[in-house]
Amino acid sequence: MKKVYLDNAASTQIDDRVVDVMIASMKEDIGNPSATHSYGQEGKSKIEWVRKNIARLLNVSASEIIFTSGGTESNNLIIRSCVEDLGVKRIITSPLEHKCVLETVRNLKEKHRDLELIFLPVKNHKGDLDFDFLEEELKNEKFTLVSLMHANNEVGNLTDIKFAADLCKKYNALFHSDTVQTMAHYALDFSEIPLDFAACSAHKFHGPKGAGIAFIRKSTGLKGVITGGAQERNLRAGTENVYGIIGLGKAFELSISELEERKSKIEKLKKYAIQQLKTNFPEIKFNGYSEDLEKSIYTLLSVLFPFPNTMVGFQLDLKGIAVSQGSACASGAAKPSNTMLQLYSSEELENTTTLRISFSHYNTQSDVDELVNALKEI
Ligand code: PLP
Repeated sequence: MKKVYLDNAASTQIDDRVVDVMIASMKEDIGNPSATHSYGQEGKSKIEWVRKNIARLLNVSASEIIFTSGGTESNNLIIRSCVEDLGVKRIITSPLEHKCVLETVRNLKEKHRDLELIFLPVKNHKGDLDFDFLEEELKNEKFTLVSLMHANNEVGNLTDIKFAADLCKKYNALFHSDTVQTMAHYALDFSEIPLDFAACSAHKFHGPKGAGIAFIRKSTGLKGVITGGAQERNLRAGTENVYGIIGLGKAFELSISELEERKSKIEKLKKYAIQQLKTNFPEIKFNGYSEDLEKSIYTLLSVLFPFPNTMVGFQLDLKGIAVSQGSACASGAAKPSNTMLQLYSSEELENTTTLRISFSHYNTQSDVDELVNALKEI
């Protein structure tokens, strides 16, 4: 049976060239990077090379790149330290954030009674956030962290993070963006976007699972949450994941150097999928802005079918096709995801089925054809 993998927003197939550099490092870099002998120092110098290279690609300085285990850890580190070390008194975020942001801010609110937690209103079915509301709130210059994701992982909506970051600067608020779905998928230049913090995860762009970055602007003075070692400039104690970092570096570099080629291939596939789905299921809708190539991330399409089938993900899986029913964290769940419930009422979602189809440059038109044929059979 041919495998059709269309769940790239959850995780991507690792690139063979990434595997190669990781295997070489596993064989060569046997020492602890904190050791002073050459067995350790060789690994350490490779880590520092990756750090410099990623800093160059993001147009930041190398000391602003901290290696972590991925998006969840990076977001936790940033948000928790903002409250617990920097003394942030108010967090403004959106109800459409990934669980690792939503649960973290709720947890902090429980622990710190004086912390104010504000969610931006979602203005409509498309998922537009109320930026006028944000500006009104920011006029009260309480020490604030604003956290807004760059691309939503369920419906793909893109947030104008340059606009949000400029607004935060104007009112002296800190700005964090969960850029897990966009980092290495877009050529982000952080010298032009005045954000303070961002998160990245290698397995979203054909790198290894369990490796990521926290971007921490030098001037913010954040502190580490994991203690017990001076690694990563005291911001993340623990022996470095040398092979993971080397794999992350390779995957990042390849994604940026092949970005235009991959993007145009994936955009064509997404357009083709939209057209095929509309032709075969004229009654379907697309969630958020996922049908709009300007306003949503090019790798993701979220579809709403006007009939209930909580088993469709499993039925597709039996046919060798992987998509996500809701986000990866909620996959297999029968009830609508938090994000969908922010866009529609539970009544509106009755008798519907949501599928997230997410692409990579490894996909082909025949993957889309197989998906559409399987959906027709189901
Ligand atoms: N943030 C977003 C937007 C994501 O899509 C994900 C992954 O699903 C994460 C954070 C978590 O990243 P990781 O799997 O590296 O912990």
